[in-house]
This record gives sequence, C-alpha cells and structure tokens, in this order.
Amino acid sequence: MKTFDYVIVGGGSAGCVLADKLSACGNYSVCLLEAGKEDKSWLIHLPIGIIGLMRDRTLNWQFNSQREATLNNREIFTPRGKTLGGSSSINAMLYVRGQKQDYDHWHSLGNQGWSYDEVLPYFKALEHQERGADEYHGINGSLNVADSVSKPAINEEFIQSAIAAGYPENNDFNGATQEGIGYFQVTQKNGLRHSAAKAFLTPNLTRTNLTVITQTQVDKILIENKVATGVSFKHKGKMQSIRANNEVILSAGAIHSPQLLMLSGVGPVEELNRHDIDVIHPLEGVGKNLQDHVDILSVAEHKRTNVLAYRPKSAWWAIKESMKFFKKRQGLLTTVVAESGGFIKSEPSLTEPDLQLHFVPAAMDDHGRNHKLLCTYGIAMHVCLLRPKSRGTITLNSDKVNHHPRIHMNMLDHQDDINTMIKAVKIAKNIFSTPPLSNAHVKYIFPDDNCTSDQEIHEFLKNKCNTIYHPVGTCKMGQDELAVVDEQLKVHGINKLRVVDASIMPTLVSGNTNAPTMMIAAKAAVSILADANYSASKLGEVI
Ligand SMILES: Cc1cc2nc3c(=O)[nH]c(=O)nc-3n(C[C@H](O)[C@H](O)[C@H](O)COP(=O)(O)OP(=O)(O)OC[C@H]3O[C@@H](n4cnc5c(N)ncnc54)[C@H](O)[C@@H]3O)c2cc1C
Repeated sequence: MKTFDYVIVGGGSAGCVLADKLSACGNYSVCLLEAGKEDKSWLIHLPIGIIGLMRDRTLNWQFNSQREATLNNREIFTPRGKTLGGSSSINAMLYVRGQKQDYDHWHSLGNQGWSYDEVLPYFKALEHQERGADEYHGINGSLNVADSVSKPAINEEFIQSAIAAGYPENNDFNGATQEGIGYFQVTQKNGLRHSAAKAFLTPNLTRTNLTVITQTQVDKILIENKVATGVSFKHKGKMQSIRANNEVILSAGAIHSPQLLMLSGVGPVEELNRHDIDVIHPLEGVGKNLQDHVDILSVAEHKRTNVLAYRPKSAWWAIKESMKFFKKRQGLLTTVVAESGGFIKSEPSLTEPDLQLHFVPAAMDDHGRNHKLLCTYGIAMHVCLLRPKSRGTITLNSDKVNHHPRIHMNMLDHQDDINTMIKAVKIAKNIFSTPPLSNAHVKYIFPDDNCTSDQEIHEFLKNKCNTIYHPVGTCKMGQDELAVVDEQLKVHGINKLRVVDASIMPTLVSGNTNAPTMMIAAKAAVSILADANYSASKLGEVI
C-alpha cells in the first residue's frame, strides 16, 4: 500500500490550495485524489466556455435535487465541477469575498480565529490583484484577480439604471464596503480562466513530493479505532487503498464531503442504519445545515442587439467581439456572462446588503440551457438572497459512492426568505423600468405583467427559483450538536481527519463562495502544518 504524509480527497478550490501549501516546503509527501479528469478542455480555459460546461456531463457532476415541495415539486439543477480545479473550473469566475460581518458572525458563534480581521490576511496573501496592493488587496499571491476585459456595453446601461433607481455605485465589492452597483472583478489571467488548479496546482506539478491522481473517486475513508489511516478507491477496475501518515483531508465539496463521511460510517445514525452502513462514529450534523443562495431570474425582451442571442445582428456583433480575443485577449470570448451586478438592501433600514444582483446581457433561462429563449434579443437579472434562513440536507440514496447523494434544497421554506425574495422580484422590475435600460425595453418575458400581487409573485418564485450555485454548510464548523468539525476543521470524534472545503461554513457568506473556500483552505494549511510541528517561524511563508 502506498503511503503519503497527507492524502487530500478532491482537487477542487480547496483541494488545489491545500496541495500547493502542504507540498511547498518540501518536508511532506502529498497525494491529491480527484474523481474527475485533468482540466485540459478549452471549455474550461476560454471563459465563454462556461455556457457549454453547464451541459457537459464529463466535467460537471450535474446533480438534480429531489422534488422540492417548497418549489412546486421541481427538481433543482445543481452543477458542480468534476475535474482538477473542481467548481472553480466551471464557475462564473466572479471574485467576491462576502461581508466583514459574515466572518465576525462565525467568530461570534465560538469559532476562534475566523473573524474578518483574522481571515483578511489569507484573502490578501492568496491574491495577485492587478489593480495593485492596498489595505484590502495583495499582489504576491498565485490567484490572479483582474478587471473583466469583456464588458458588453449594455452593462453600463444596467449600472446607470440601478444608480438612477437609488442604489450607490461601488467599484470594489471586496474593499471598504460591499454595498453598491458596479463591475465584478474576475479570476482570470490574460483573458483566460484562472481556476484554483491553474493558480495553485499546475505550476507545482513538477514537485517530487506532490502526487496527483485523477479519475479516481474515493469510496471510503479508512478509520481504525477512531483514527483516519487512509482512503480506499477503485482504480482501473481494482480496489486499492492509500495510507496517510499524518492526516486525511476531505475536500470533496459541500455535496460530496458529507456523502463520503456517511459512506465511511461517520454521520447520523438513523441515516447510516437506513443503508446498512456500520456506525464508526455518530455525528448528527453530517449533511444537515445545507444553505444556498436562492435566486430568481427576471427576463425582458429588449431592443438592443449587442447582446448574446441567436439573432443576425447579435451574431455579427459577437463575431466582431470575438475577433478582439485573437488580437488582444479581450472581448466576448472572455465573458463571464455576468460582468456587472451589485449588493443592495431590500429595505433601506438594513445595516448591510441582503441581496446580490447579477446582470446578464441575454434572455437567459434554465442556467443557459434553454436555447429557445436565446432566439430573442433580451436581458436578464438574477437577484439572490445573501443570508437565507431555510436549511436543506444531504443524505444518501444508497451505500454506493457512484450513486449521487440525495439533495434536499428546501429553499423558500422560511417565511422571511419568501418575503425578501418577493421584494427582490419587485426590485428587478424597478431597475428594468428605469432609464436608460427602460428606453429600449420591449416587454417582460417573466415575470409577466400580470404578476403583481405578493401572492402571484410567490407563485412565480415557486415556479422559477433556482440555486446560484453556492451550497455550503453540510459539515459545519462549531461546537454545537450539529457541528461536524472544530475551528481547526478537525472532525469531531475522529483523529487525523479534517474537512476543508465550502461545507465547513457554519453560515453562508454574503457573496459568491470560491474566494472564501480558498481562504478556508489556506488557513487550514497553516493549522495542519503547525500540528506537524513545522517550523513556527516559517509558517508565515506558507500562505
Ligand atoms: C456553475 C457554477 C458557477 C459558480 N460561480 C461562482 C463565481 O462566479 N464566483 C464564486 O466565487 N463562486 C462561484 N461558484 C461557487 C464556487 O466555485 C464553489 O463554492 C467552490 O468552487 C467550492 O469549492 P470546494 O473546494 O468546496 O468544492 P469543489 O471545487 O466543487 O471541489 C470538490 C472536488 O472534489 C471532487 N470529488 C468529489 N467527490 C470525490 C471523491 N469521492 N473522490 C475524489 N474526488 C472527489 C470533485 O470532482 C471536485 O473536483 C460557482 C459554482 C458553480 C458550480
């Protein structure tokens, strides 16, 4: 059996950062196991490929939730990356950290070391900010953070309409204040996607102490006397295992990490019994506390033709835009589809934004998979709820790793979430109805003009709400009865096992989750190396 000091399960946002940081000093051998294949496809690297990635069955797990009673019995499409870089290889590349209050809240829940002031240095250290360094940004990290080089002109109209509707302007959502409307920064370098793999793994593949094994889905964490000793998996048709001298680190993401814990006998007893899995350690919170940004899309027909559409004038515009890529690495091929947006308050009396906007220069529906609607010149706006109160679960469909876990989103279960999302729909309509956007407005596609009362809007929400792809919380950090890991991300009750990925967030951050997940991994790496007695004076160099 092969032995490494650290075995990391999952080569996504967190796994790539960990693989880099744990192998950098050269003292430890690290093995990274990833279920998906290498990140070679151009769909990954060329930003506009995101549209194709939604439909790609090899690079995207393409989960569907169970039928959701709160959403008129619809299954909710839940894409997740299945390749090196994980979801950072198929995501929309928006670089957002969340609010100061998110991390101060984690700290107030008893998680020492996770306040904003304590996590900010990790965000800064991971980043190479193209605008230069300042109080909030760093320039020495491996992750390139850039201003988008694709800004279809209609984004400016959206920004001006939102400002005219009363929202402030903001040119740095990760700076002193998050509130306002503007352009997102993106994780791109020279017009190409800069995934966690590109930033943290690919440049380090020549390290002799780093082994990366792809197309290998771990099916169990091996646990002896409540100590994690390694992992098992099927490779080339044969069952194999790898041993970990120091630790096993689970970074399989918010859907798979709880699944793998349960398959390994760590989880709610009732759920393990249901699937005849031996209980190694009862841990009630595994798979509970699922939180995601519930999102509603409003779509309108528009007179502008410089939008993404299967129409003659748009096609001509797209060709001209695409040529810019070959000349200057700019233009439409580098689009993240939602270049502009912002963070706003559903009520002026709130102290912090509770809604996020993503503006889309296209009549888009069903995660971009509805190509019929793209035959219309149009625009769309996502509005999502930043701190939902509804909670879902991840459970098992069977005791087999290759059976997708059972996702119960339970969005809009809490009345407060419904109330705020009703306001969200009204806010989107108001911005669409404000000049300059309204000057070229033709008609609303959905919600239609008859959807005006709160009851009608709630029905619309039930029919149309979706995830905007930020599931977290299913192996949450804390000390309460649903906590799965402690503040050092060690699994309660099992030695030498940590969970390090988006699943450990006790509450969802107020923004997109890629940068926060990488911050979590960098912070965990310091904690892991400190436990291995790595020179305290050199720990600062790790990040
Ligand atoms: C379509 C989409 C758009 C998004 N847009 C943005 C955005 O614009 N900005 C942003 O900040 N965030 C965005 N996100 C969210 C963000 O990308 C994720 O929150 C983040 O990547 C999660 O990182 P992770 O390490 O927790 O999991 P992941 O990055 O998903 O990594 C988990 C990895 O583990 C692997 N794995 C799972 N099970 C096993 C197993 N048993 N054995 C081996 N390997 C396994 C998976 O294949 C995967 O590669 C988006 C996500 C999606 C899906």
